[in-house]
Amino acid sequence: MEASCSISSSVRRKAPMMYYCNKKHVLVVAWTEDNPGRRFYGCPNYWVGRKCRFFQWHDDEICERDKVFIPQQRQRIIKLEAKLANCKKREKFLVVVVALLVVIFAILCLLR
Ligand SMILES: [Zn+2]
Repeated sequence: MEASCSISSSVRRKAPMMYYCNKKHVLVVAWTEDNPGRRFYGCPNYWVGRKCRFFQWHDDEICERDKVFIPQQRQRIIKLEAKLANCKKREKFLVVVVALLVVIFAILCLLR
């Protein structure tokens, strides 16, 4: 049986009420090696002019198992989404081909 993560206090922090600048701080997802999928509050002004350094984690710390597991699952989802997009393109193309064949067949039947 696989060991599960021991970090599970799972106490959701409330959105920060305090504003260090006039911008509303936003909830963002980190995709760093140490914090894959971990959400935090940041400021839209972080990289702009007079920088606001507001930063606060929303989620609990990621356990070692999930630091590996979450990026693997994310890559899998990205690949599957790409495959799905290709299938949808192919489906549209096939619908057009079938529609054209129906029209050609109808014309041929009328000309007989
Ligand atoms: Zn700010």
